[in-house]
Amino acid sequence: MKPWKKMLMGLGLGVLVGILIGPKAQYVKPFGTVFLTLLNMLIVPLVFSSMCVGITSISDIRKLGRVGFKTLLLFVVTTMIAIVFGLFAAHFIKPGAGMGLSYSRELALDNTPALSKMFLDLVPTNPIGSLATGNILQVIIFAIFLGLGINFAGEKGKPLARFMESLSEVMFAMTRLVMKLAPFGIFFIMIWVTGTFGVAILFPLLKLIFAIYLASIIHLVVVFGGILIFLAKVRVGPFFKGMGDAIAMAISTTSSSATLPTTLHCVEQNLGVSKNIANFILPLGCTINMNGTAIFQAIAALFIAQCYGIDLTIVNMITIVATATLSAVGCAGIPGAGIVTLSIVLSTIGLPLEGIAIVAGIDRIRDIIGTVLNVLGDGVVAVYVAKSEKEFDETCYNHTVNVSYQEGAMPTESKS
Ligand code: ASP
Repeated sequence: MKPWKKMLMGLGLGVLVGILIGPKAQYVKPFGTVFLTLLNMLIVPLVFSSMCVGITSISDIRKLGRVGFKTLLLFVVTTMIAIVFGLFAAHFIKPGAGMGLSYSRELALDNTPALSKMFLDLVPTNPIGSLATGNILQVIIFAIFLGLGINFAGEKGKPLARFMESLSEVMFAMTRLVMKLAPFGIFFIMIWVTGTFGVAILFPLLKLIFAIYLASIIHLVVVFGGILIFLAKVRVGPFFKGMGDAIAMAISTTSSSATLPTTLHCVEQNLGVSKNIANFILPLGCTINMNGTAIFQAIAALFIAQCYGIDLTIVNMITIVATATLSAVGCAGIPGAGIVTLSIVLSTIGLPLEGIAIVAGIDRIRDIIGTVLNVLGDGVVAVYVAKSEKEFDETCYNHTVNVSYQEGAMPTESKS
């Protein structure tokens, strides 16, 4: 059976067992947690080595600049469009209308220092400390500089480049080992999630969930579909088929970081994106490109305003677009991180922070579609950039055979 089928089976069975055993599900939580911990164990060295190799393998500095520019531009533009879809969905569906909550203005904070701190915190003072504490954004910045340093050092940098390549290959081999456990890990995680949160928690907030899912699906069809069809000029079907494992992982872990090893595998082996492009875009994307989180934050901000009967102006809306973009960038790829950085959006436009407590009830449910979108967004950008840089194996994408790339490292595994 294909891995994604096993994972989906684990997911479905987990939901069933969770509904059956209810709160007793907490006893199986450690089995799911140990799987997540195994994945987390891989993330720092995997991101560090693959990001660095992503830079060193593109030795042509102009090409690196081009790839970096295209990637960042697409990340920012798609995030902003996601927010606009979110704002429209919340405006028309009005999920928070009629809740009639009251609040005191004093609670609204000015969070400007938090934004500038977020920016300053990007650069590590001590990269070893960033690796040790798992500060992924700082690890990425350091890996980018290290990769550039290796390139500029020429011959003398080669041994270190080979070491990083070897480290990244070993991390992938470890990932394949850990992923053998995925169907079981997913099974236990889903038992715990369904048993603990239950299905009943949903009802009061159904409209909010509906708005989030609707905006996400529109974004998926219009933006992701549009990029694939009109920019990358490829068929849409193989993309979703190829990303099947990553989608199953995103649904069950609600963490784009935990999904990263699977995303890398899917994008390289199934979608035919070259290793250097995938290694460059995906670790970066799983940290800063969060379309799903951005949609949630825009809708949540409007929902909270509606709950408290606060009318937002056009200026407020524009501020939401700017702050939600930044807070999605600063949001870690871990479960529930989006609700933490939501406070940046709320406090910048002066909305009551207690609103977060209302939204928190549905966090897991919104995080499922959010993480799927976050992961797929990275895949879409990788496919487009790879195609435009001629680092794309279309035969592999269309699921026929795996053929070699003309340049760079090539996937060797044949597909089952
Ligand atoms: N769980 C999301 C992710 O890992 C982040 C979030 O929105 O909370 O991509």
